[in-house]
Amino acid sequence: MHEDRVRPAASLPVLAACCGALLATPRRLLWPRRPDVRVLSALRDAGQPPARKHIRLTALPQGTQTAPAAVVAEGVIRPAYLRLGMTSFLVEHPAARFLVDPSLCVDVHRTVLPQLPAPLRKFVAPDRPVTGLAEALDRVDLAVDDVDFALPTHLHWDHVSGLLELPSEVPVRATPTEWAFALNARRPPLGVASSPLRGRRLEAVELDGPPVLTFDRSHDLFGDGSVVIVDLAGHTPGSVGVLLGVEGGRRVLLAGDAVWHRLQVRRLREKAPFPGRLVDHDRGAAFAVVHRLRALPSHVEVVPAHDRDAAACWVRRRS
Ligand SMILES: [Zn+2]
Repeated sequence: MHEDRVRPAASLPVLAACCGALLATPRRLLWPRRPDVRVLSALRDAGQPPARKHIRLTALPQGTQTAPAAVVAEGVIRPAYLRLGMTSFLVEHPAARFLVDPSLCVDVHRTVLPQLPAPLRKFVAPDRPVTGLAEALDRVDLAVDDVDFALPTHLHWDHVSGLLELPSEVPVRATPTEWAFALNARRPPLGVASSPLRGRRLEAVELDGPPVLTFDRSHDLFGDGSVVIVDLAGHTPGSVGVLLGVEGGRRVLLAGDAVWHRLQVRRLREKAPFPGRLVDHDRGAAFAVVHRLRALPSHVEVVPAHDRDAAACWVRRRS
């Protein structure tokens, strides 16, 4: 079956949600949502486990976009536009090689985007052409067979479409909450495309560990402090961040779509209602997470999935 024939009409509720979000946006450009000083002052840094091993982090750029800054971070008009990207992150640990956010497949415009409702599809589509995941891996001398598992920060289409280029036996690690959100509803939530996920084996990640930094729950993936998954629920119910202990001693938090750009953390700003209201599952929780990111100690480098400049310094050039 050609998936580009599965082209959902924009349903009335989706159109109504788009119109409501659009109408709410101009006011927020002038009067952005204010930070909650009580939330901010109540946050405590719980510390983090020492990294007894270290990983190698490589950003694999796959797609580009440009968006008005005021849409990414309410009330920000300088710069007028931000460089956004769609990036997969390769993590090489002594015990496993895996991908955080396997972002795009080469034919994403034909095979995945048609599964989204029309108004959203037009807004979120990356520039053409995109780099497929197999090609992005090839640029660092790896093949799709070299990947042990995928660890999406959440299950929106632009964080899992690269799965379509990975062997079918490569499992996906995600929280059961996120898996249920993406796949158990009668109709996929906005931002979710089912085809990259259907038939994939889920390896459930439970956030059963203690508070880490400013986050309430965690899971130490290898038990050595080098890869710690933290709770960023809000953008989606099971969104996570991946805290890495990188070679050389740097600490990086891959933050998925908890924020789209570091500007949101610096200025403590919410995404504008359009399209934030459409893609954030719980706006209140999502904004609380921005506060948690803002309260992080300065040595933790936040890398949002779509912040092209934040990812750029992790791009590895072929030697
Ligand atoms: Zn995204």
